[in-house]
Amino acid sequence: MKTSRKPKTGSQDVDGFGFLRAQLEGELLRWAVGQAITCPYCGDILDCRRAVLADSPTRGSTVVCVKCWDRARDHVLATIPDIEVTDGRDIPR
Ligand SMILES: [Zn+2]
Repeated sequence: MKTSRKPKTGSQDVDGFGFLRAQLEGELLRWAVGQAITCPYCGDILDCRRAVLADSPTRGSTVVCVKCWDRARDHVLATIPDIEVTDGRDIPR
């Protein structure tokens, strides 16, 4: 996967595979939510429409609820330059 600092789902389609990529990201997010079940920060039950998968080749990956993501987003994006974010709110249904 390419690295990106910003959520890229749905907004970029540089190679014409945007729809397929968005579908795969949605599946990956659903899988990660199923593995984690609860947000590691607040303990809320995760729902793939209200969860964010943050993946970094150097820091690993985690899935959190949107409340925790929205609180930490700016700090995380500023401190982890290679992070790739899949936001469940951006996944087309
Ligand atoms: Zn949370």
